[in-house]
Amino acid sequence: MKRLILIFAALAAVVQLNAQHSQEVKAVQSDGYAEQQGSYIPDFKVDGKDTKVKNVILIIGDGMGLGAVSTAMFANGGELTMTNLRTLGYVRTQAVNNFTTDSAASGTAYATGHKTNTGSLGVDTCGVALPNIPEILTPLGYACGIVSNDPLYGATPAAFYAHQASRKNKEEIWMDMASSPLAFFSAGTKFSYLEQPLSTREAIEKNFKIMYEVDEALLKSSDKLGYLPEKAENNPDFLVPTTRMALEFLSARAKKGFFLMIEGAHIDHRAHSNNTEELITEMLDFDKAVTEAVKFAEKDGHTLVIISADHETGGVALKKGDPQDAYIQNVFATRGHTPVMVPLFAYGPKSHIFNCVQENSDVCNKILQILGAR
Ligand SMILES: [Zn+2]
Repeated sequence: MKRLILIFAALAAVVQLNAQHSQEVKAVQSDGYAEQQGSYIPDFKVDGKDTKVKNVILIIGDGMGLGAVSTAMFANGGELTMTNLRTLGYVRTQAVNNFTTDSAASGTAYATGHKTNTGSLGVDTCGVALPNIPEILTPLGYACGIVSNDPLYGATPAAFYAHQASRKNKEEIWMDMASSPLAFFSAGTKFSYLEQPLSTREAIEKNFKIMYEVDEALLKSSDKLGYLPEKAENNPDFLVPTTRMALEFLSARAKKGFFLMIEGAHIDHRAHSNNTEELITEMLDFDKAVTEAVKFAEKDGHTLVIISADHETGGVALKKGDPQDAYIQNVFATRGHTPVMVPLFAYGPKSHIFNCVQENSDVCNKILQILGAR
C-alpha cells in the first residue's frame, strides 16, 4: 500500500553573522505530501566488471546534490534505485571563470570533456566550437539521443547539440539542431518549436522527422526523430515513457552501440524555489527514469549507466527526519546554485572507473575512452 510522505519544508532565510561569512539558516515551515514508490535492486552480475561496454546512458539530475538525493531517499522510506547501486563517486562542477557553475558550462563539460565559462554552450572560453559526444560517436557507428523535460533549448540538452557563445541565443540554439548528428531527441515543447521561424523548422525537418504525439509508425520508420510533446514539465507521463521510447529507438538503430543523455531538469527549478514537496516529486520521477535505465542495462549486460548532476542547487540540507514515518525536515541555504561536489552513481560494466572524485569533464572523457573514441 502506498504511504503518504509528510514533509516539513523549510524556507531559507540566510543571516550573515560575521565578516567571515558564517551563515545561519532560519527555517520557515510549510506542509505537503507525495507518494512513496519503492525502488529497484538490479542483479550485479556485470557491475564493475572489465567487460565490453556497447551503450552508455548518462542521466543528469539538474541541480541534484546530495541534499536532494537524501531528502527524496528518506521521504521515500529510505530507498531510491540510484542509492541501491554499488558504484559511487563525486563530481566537481566548477566552471573556468566561476567557482559556482551554471548548467551551460557544466553541461558543456559533460558533453565535450572540456570546461568552459558560465553561459557558454558547446564552445571553449574563446568561443570556438568543441565537438560533443554525439558528434564524436555518430561517425563511429553509435546512435545518439537526448531526452529532457526542459525545453529543447535548455542548457543541459543544448550542450549535446549546440555551439553558442551564450545560452540566451535561443533561436540560434534551435537552429543548431538542424545540423546535429543526433538520431533521437525529445524535450519540451511542441509550442516552443512552433514559435520558431519557418526557415528554422524547415531546416530541422530536412534532418529529422518531427512527432508531436506518439506515433508507432514514425517511431519504426524514421532514422532520425524528434519528439516534441505538448507538455514535458510537470508531466508524470513524460520522462519515464520517453526514456523507454529512446532506449528502444536507439537500440534498434545502433550499429556499434548507443549513447543516451537523460535530464531531469526540474530538480534544479524546485530547489531554486526552495519547494521541498515539489523537489521530492521531481526526484522521485527522476528515480523512475533511473529505474528504466538500470533495468535495461541489467537485461542488456553491455550497458553502462551513470547518474550524476551538473551542480547542486539550493544548498539543501536535512535537519530532522524519520524514514519509518516518512517524515523529513530540511533547510535551504540559498535560492541559487552552490559549488559543492555532487554525487555520482554508476551501474554496469566498467562502472568502477567512476568510483572516485572527478571533474565533470572527466566523466565525458571516460565515457569516450570506454567506447574507444579517445
Ligand atoms: Zn539552476
